[in-house]
Amino acid sequence: MDELRKNGKEIGLAVIIVGDNPASRIYVNNKKKACEYIGIRSEEFALPESTTEEELKSLVEKLNNDDTIDGILVQLPLPKHINEETVINTISVKKDVDAFHPVNVGKIMIGDYDFLPCTPAGVMELIKESGIDVDGKNCVVVGRSNIVGKPQAMLLLHKNGTVTICHSKTKDLAEVTKNADILVAAVGVPEMITGDMVKEGAVVIDVGMNRLPDKKLVGDVKFEECEKKAAAITPVPGGVGPMTIAMLMKNTVKAATLK
Ligand code: NDP
Repeated sequence: MDELRKNGKEIGLAVIIVGDNPASRIYVNNKKKACEYIGIRSEEFALPESTTEEELKSLVEKLNNDDTIDGILVQLPLPKHINEETVINTISVKKDVDAFHPVNVGKIMIGDYDFLPCTPAGVMELIKESGIDVDGKNCVVVGRSNIVGKPQAMLLLHKNGTVTICHSKTKDLAEVTKNADILVAAVGVPEMITGDMVKEGAVVIDVGMNRLPDKKLVGDVKFEECEKKAAAITPVPGGVGPMTIAMLMKNTVKAATLK
């Protein structure tokens, strides 16, 4: 980034938000704050709920061709009448700082990538910075979404973990999670990973962000129970969430550098 600055280059991130989902608004605001903090120019495009898929795609195409924009982020979820996959496929592979485009997803599979998806990359960074070696460890990822669970499993595999992926059809989930040296929960069910599902000395990483009716934010892991057994554990809030944003910043700087 300093190198880019020295050459007088400004880094630009376009953030598109459609509709008025309150959680999305919080995420977008946090991303904009991070941009301000590190000196990336963020340009927000707040579109009404009634925006059509065609209108959104033509904005993305315009930003693809805009030289002042290095990264494009379309905040998910999109309103139901817009096909997320179609919109993601429209983003230029070189500006896809979320790494959701199928080309970038494929590159992650083969381990030859420019961008990593922000949340799984943030988890890997936490593991690395905590001095935890993944090599040969039993890693269990609960959740198989395209944006978290699947790429998370792939990144752990690249680091030589022995990886098991669980989902809603997994039989006897606790039997699998109890075997994990490294357990990543990315489910979206408040506090479903309880202390009895965790092995003594395990590393427990909670990706979940669930808003309870009383507005409290909790993860997928019952923290008070699991921290008693875990060697290391991430809290919610203040664990994976900030790392996701940090990785978005990293990808945006990388996009500018590659350009
Ligand atoms: P999805 O809803 O796309 O995926 C959830 C996954 O959990 C699915 O694979 C589903 O299985 C699985 N699942 C659901 N119920 C169970 C169950 N009872 N037992 C086992 N597996 C189950 O969610 P995301 O991956 O997008 O997000 C997961 C969580 O992470 C959410 O709380 C989200 O808010 C949070 N998140 C946090 C981020 C951060 O920055 N910290 C970023 C992105 C997400 P199946 O495939 O069979 O339906």
